[in-house]
Amino acid sequence: MDAYIVKAGKMILGDGLEAKENAGLLIENGKIVKIYDNMASVEIPAGIEVVDYGDSVVIPGMIDCHNHLALDARLENHLVKMEDCEAEQTIRAIKTMKDDLMAGVTTARCLGDRFYIDVTCKKAQKEGRITGPKLVVSGIGMRSTHGHGYVGMPHCGPEEFRKTARENIARGVDFLKVFMTKVINATPFIYHFLTLDELKVVVEEAKSVNITTACHCSGGQGLDDCLTAGIDCLEHVYYITPQQVERVKREDRWVVYTPSYALNDELLFKFSPHDKEGSLREKEIICRCLSGAIEGELKFGIGTDGLHAGLAQEACYISGLGAKNRDVLAGITINAARLCRVDESTGSIVEGKAADLVVLEKDPLENVEALKGVKSVIQDGVVIR
Ligand SMILES: [Zn+2]
Repeated sequence: MDAYIVKAGKMILGDGLEAKENAGLLIENGKIVKIYDNMASVEIPAGIEVVDYGDSVVIPGMIDCHNHLALDARLENHLVKMEDCEAEQTIRAIKTMKDDLMAGVTTARCLGDRFYIDVTCKKAQKEGRITGPKLVVSGIGMRSTHGHGYVGMPHCGPEEFRKTARENIARGVDFLKVFMTKVINATPFIYHFLTLDELKVVVEEAKSVNITTACHCSGGQGLDDCLTAGIDCLEHVYYITPQQVERVKREDRWVVYTPSYALNDELLFKFSPHDKEGSLREKEIICRCLSGAIEGELKFGIGTDGLHAGLAQEACYISGLGAKNRDVLAGITINAARLCRVDESTGSIVEGKAADLVVLEKDPLENVEALKGVKSVIQDGVVIR
């Protein structure tokens, strides 16, 4: 039996993410087995070590809802690197996983990697052969022959989509991912590269084995088609209209925000270096659309889209666009876990769940910037840093 107690000035507890002062956690065999409301009145059992984090704040381990292991947006020409050989991409994946975990990401949802690198890494992480977030994976991302999707593979016609969907399922993926639109700089007419029939086939295959579907979808007709086909989660939604916000809400679907590609100027100008003014115009449109979605209170997760170790910054952007601090925190913890269907085992500090914890200097419910001040990371009860 491997047991110890974690103690801190403040803890963000339960699915409701309520702050509690002077609480403590008994951790045993990687799980939270008991939550102490007030450590002052607890008699520490003999032989149990107490790890005291002083004035720090303990939150649930963070969940990056949109990640690609081998795509590292921090590197020069990162999109071209998606053509690298399998070994090179795998080496990169092992590095980004470590970086993410050190930044407090104890679980990550992978939206497509070539060569089933995500499926391989998920297994290796689980077996303790590599260090990184626990993974929720989609295998090969499916794009159309003529469409966007650097990390995806080309497909044409419903039967080709069905074939890869089944291969993904056979490899043991947790969900299926397709690419409908471009990223940004997509207005005024937002191309939609998949037909409704192609989408429906993917949804049908996912439903047949009770897994979910996600679609890279900036907006336009493609977004409506995703809803019609029954896609569970819309990624990016940079150009979502007020009417579409209403429909997503009514139909109870998820969205995942990846704001950096529009709000981080360095990245934004990378996409269109000769048209700074155009990019800034885009940024304005995107901010308006994302704020509208946040105001419409859609269920959301937050992701980095390959900006590894940058989840805290994404959370800050979403806060800046109008989301309440608790909702932002939920978007990278409990709601993220629900979206990933791993909320039975992680995503909040609840008795019985994995001891996935992040120790911060300050309270993110007071200021989301606090997420950048990671002091310690615990995954499945193991102190990682
Ligand atoms: Zn992506």
